[in-house]
Amino acid sequence: MGRLRRSRVHNARRDVHRAARTRVRTRDLDQIQMLDLDPKRRAELEAQPLDFEKPGLAQHYCVECAKYYETDAALNSHWRSKVHKRRCKQLKEPAYTIEESERAAGLGRETRKPAVMEDVVVAVAT
Ligand SMILES: [Zn+2]
Repeated sequence: MGRLRRSRVHNARRDVHRAARTRVRTRDLDQIQMLDLDPKRRAELEAQPLDFEKPGLAQHYCVECAKYYETDAALNSHWRSKVHKRRCKQLKEPAYTIEESERAAGLGRETRKPAVMEDVVVAVAT
């Protein structure tokens, strides 16, 4: 028999059990996309006041990954890392919204709008 195992199944997230813990839970992608990536909010997050509870006194924060780093060097090496690049790629895709879920269930505006438009066209034509 040939190879049973697929190649390239490893990724940077080595310990899935640790990642599933609530204490390491970070902000969700849609939260980052809709709130944090706004230029004003981004500037706010990058220049946070000293916080003794956060790693590195909250001075080295990656907005895309919603993560604090101890030093500037750590943050810079993080920006060059695969984890950060993958996260940026994920953030470029549009977030899953309530409208999209409603559309999937057939409740969204997309199903109702054409009917309204047809009525208008009919009203103008007559
Ligand atoms: Zn990052």
